Amino acid sequence: MHRNLINGEWVEGARVSRNINPSDTRDLVGEYAQADAAQARQAIAAARAAFAGWSVTTPQQRFDLLDAAGSEILARKAELGDLLAREEGKTLPEAIGEVARAGNIFKFFAGEALRVGGEVIGSVRPGVGVEVTREPLGVVGLITPWNFPIAIPAWKLAPALAFGNCVVMKPADLVPGSAWALADILHRAGLPKGVFNLVMGRGSEVGAVLLEDKGVDAISFTGSVATGQRVAAACAARMAKFQLEMGGKNPFVVLDDADLAVAVNCAVQSGFFSTGQRCTASSRVIVTEGIHDRFVAAVAEKMKALKVDDARKAGTDIGPVVDSAQLAQDLDYIEIGRKEGATLAAGGEAIERNADGAPGFYLRPALFTETTPGMRINREEIFGPVISVIRAKDYDEALALANDTPFGLSSGIATTSLKHATHFKRHAQAGMVMVNLPTAGVDYHVPFGGRKGSSYGPREQGRYAAEFYTTVKTAYTLA
Ligand code: NAD
Repeated sequence: MHRNLINGEWVEGARVSRNINPSDTRDLVGEYAQADAAQARQAIAAARAAFAGWSVTTPQQRFDLLDAAGSEILARKAELGDLLAREEGKTLPEAIGEVARAGNIFKFFAGEALRVGGEVIGSVRPGVGVEVTREPLGVVGLITPWNFPIAIPAWKLAPALAFGNCVVMKPADLVPGSAWALADILHRAGLPKGVFNLVMGRGSEVGAVLLEDKGVDAISFTGSVATGQRVAAACAARMAKFQLEMGGKNPFVVLDDADLAVAVNCAVQSGFFSTGQRCTASSRVIVTEGIHDRFVAAVAEKMKALKVDDARKAGTDIGPVVDSAQLAQDLDYIEIGRKEGATLAAGGEAIERNADGAPGFYLRPALFTETTPGMRINREEIFGPVISVIRAKDYDEALALANDTPFGLSSGIATTSLKHATHFKRHAQAGMVMVNLPTAGVDYHVPFGGRKGSSYGPREQGRYAAEFYTTVKTAYTLA
């Protein structure tokens, strides 16, 4: 039994959740304690009590702890990657890459703890000095989704701790294993009791307490738009600081002058890899007339070679969908696309058993062609391995179609034209723009986030994380 970490103690929960392997539903990854509302409140109280001490630790103390955690994560990346692939269903190389990312994030923010600086500015008044400094917020509540079980907890936790905050984290119900491993690593690294608390449990119960309890000064949330709106309403009602990273409907534009192999690789990579379960996945591929038919034929050809199988088996390209509810949602959208009149050019079938006969939530990636921008499959986030191709007559129309969405996370283009690449970088309405690269797959040391309905509040990651996890103080002194 994996227990919750509250005030430095491992505690039993009110209930138990069973973590099931989506590649083989007979395989129980482990049992995890589920906290209730009262335990969530205890965790918040513990974090509050720990703040006075933690917020005045030296940068060196915080560096040492975060650096040690980063080293352990990196040293154990094969084992932790195996756990991640087993509980979430992304392939082993993807999972090991995600764990390495988490380790590097801890190392990056260990360094940031040493680099918290300020400004000294001349006053407009004689004899007065002005100092601008950054201070921690207090207790930060972290609520994370299932699709990046270790990287997202890491990119919230590491800056929160580096800048001197205490934390209560509620990971996604479906994938508690990686978050638990992270808690175990931090606990053993020697974090003082109460500085970091893990409360696994239901969103509607444990998550709701984090949103409502006045002991939580700020919430960093990643997940769906519907939950994000709840977070925003609850935080605004009590004036708590909040940050939201939500869905996407990311466009990838392919122009006539694109290198065909580059365009096809980018589309297949960001449309289907990680089973399409990335907020930065390309789901709308907008292709100009001159290359359209060659591009579609090449993608369909490449799809034939994709191996959909157990996430941990060597050679698997696409692991299973995370659970039965997400698989049902993906299949619903495939049916919706058909009914809307799109052509299902390849894939889209559920596979009940993998090559070894293991039962799992497998789905062949789906390619829709002849789709129109108003179709639901082009407006709503599916969160599965489904690409819709939209025809465009030229670059201008392609750009307009790319921006015609309520979301704005990542946007990509395949082109060999410097003019179009430069124009697209400036005019794509997205937080992240990719030229001749997949829309998914980003560095760990630079800002991450979107615009419009995808994100709210300061960017995550890189040096920009300080915007959310600290508050600015301006001090005046008359010498
Ligand atoms: P979700 O909104 O269902 O859940 C996210 C988290 O919120 C979970 O921990 C859940 O338990 C919790 N939660 C649910 N109800 C709650 C409530 N009433 N109060 C407080 N917390 C509550 O999202 P999901 O299905 O886990 O994740 C998939 C979504 O996440 C997709 O929309 C995807 O695009 C998005 N996502 C966005 C980014 C990004 O950075 N933009 C990254 C990854 C995933």
